[in-house]
Amino acid sequence: MINIFWFRRDLRLDDNHGLFKALKSGLPVQPLFIFDSEILNRLTSKNDPRVQFIYNQLFEIHQTLKKFNVGLQIEIGKPVDIFARMIQKGSVKQVFANQDYEPYGQQRDQAIQSLLKSHGIDFHLFKDHVIFAPGEILKADQLPYTVFTPFSKRWKLQLTPNQVEPFDPISLFSNFVRTEFSFPDLEATGFRPASIQVPAMKIEASIIGNYANNRNFPSLAGTSLAGTHLRFGTVSIRRLVKMALQTSETWLNELIWREFFMHILFHFPHSANQNFYRKYDPLQWLNDESAFEAWTAGKTGYPLVDAGMRELLATGLMHNRVRMVTASFLTKHLLIDWRWGEAWFADKLLDYEMASNVGNWQWSAGTGCDAAPYFRVFNPTEQLKKFDPELSYVRKWLPEFDSFGYIQPIVQHNFARDRALLAYKKALTPQL
Ligand SMILES: Cc1cc2nc3c(=O)[nH]c(=O)nc-3n(C[C@H](O)[C@H](O)[C@H](O)COP(=O)(O)OP(=O)(O)OC[C@H]3O[C@@H](n4cnc5c(N)ncnc54)[C@H](O)[C@@H]3O)c2cc1C
Repeated sequence: MINIFWFRRDLRLDDNHGLFKALKSGLPVQPLFIFDSEILNRLTSKNDPRVQFIYNQLFEIHQTLKKFNVGLQIEIGKPVDIFARMIQKGSVKQVFANQDYEPYGQQRDQAIQSLLKSHGIDFHLFKDHVIFAPGEILKADQLPYTVFTPFSKRWKLQLTPNQVEPFDPISLFSNFVRTEFSFPDLEATGFRPASIQVPAMKIEASIIGNYANNRNFPSLAGTSLAGTHLRFGTVSIRRLVKMALQTSETWLNELIWREFFMHILFHFPHSANQNFYRKYDPLQWLNDESAFEAWTAGKTGYPLVDAGMRELLATGLMHNRVRMVTASFLTKHLLIDWRWGEAWFADKLLDYEMASNVGNWQWSAGTGCDAAPYFRVFNPTEQLKKFDPELSYVRKWLPEFDSFGYIQPIVQHNFARDRALLAYKKALTPQL
């Protein structure tokens, strides 16, 4: 008999809670990854850099395990079909994995749980992706927080050194099954090599120590680039929180925002595609398709917005300050539904994370929990003066900026601002 450890969004061999527990379970462990066709079929590009990143990371894991004569089993298809096939052989006793809190992950795991249960196989899920799981940080009345500051205070109060202790499975590697599995080509997944690459994290003290001063300036390399690594679990959150505790409270707060939005999405799943506050439902979006196209292409005539949208197209990432400006511009200046922008970011961002993306888009649109008030409309020209005063970020991403070819704004700021305020006011006071 064997146990299975199923990798999902925890693509690493070090400090991996579920893997650690699997290797301590007493039976030999077969490591498994499934390229889930349900997820892959939703991707719009066949050279999606996120698939390439997963593939590269799995290849590294495969190479490491090979040194211990262990084969990483890679499957492609629907997880429920793959498990149904695997358990027919009759040798699987238990399945171990790390908990996934996103709506699709929950649904998938419930289906796997009932399949395994019907064959007498236990499915064990562990907390690995967060320090506190949804349900662990609650108000005194046992309801979830909907405001960040008290959530973060509670989070910090409940934190003990134990919670950031690593789960290091390396000394247990002799407990893997000794087998060989061939490693598939990327093409077997239906994808092709990507031109965009995920940048390495920058979590050295020189970056994190200066984070509070530098994080708002998109021309500086002032942030960690940890987002994609947290998304796919190529770094452990425990390691990052430990570092934040020693180096930067501001950076720690950002890591807590990530958990805050995960808890929000878990407790309020309607917010994945509905306004968190339903009172905004009557808002009349203009949803002008040509304006949306101009925004996606970085052709709005507002340099900071355009530079950000070009950065996204070129690298799959965008600086947080600029994400806020571009999202505010789409929802307020253009009065385009936040769900359109959310879907565009979901398609393009390397660090796309449903909870953070939806949470931040609703924050920008003013429809979310603890959101910026709807009457806060970023002035993209003022934001440029403040956060890119030397115009270095803009010049980097907008080569035509200094030429006569740079376009006029597609909408005038004061006009757009007044139009947005009126539309929001009308939505909230239907008698107007
Ligand atoms: C409209 C919009 C959409 C966004 N979509 C995403 C998304 O899909 N995925 C995503 O991870 N972040 C998203 N963010 C948040 C933020 O922009 C990115 O996390 C950050 O830019 C990533 O850069 P970094 O990895 O260098 O992070 P750092 O600035 O070094 O921060 C460290 C980590 O803290 C977390 N974090 C930082 N800021 C936030 C935040 N505002 N909300 C939640 N977590 C945060 C991330 O995990 C990040 O990697 C979005 C922000 C906006 C305004």
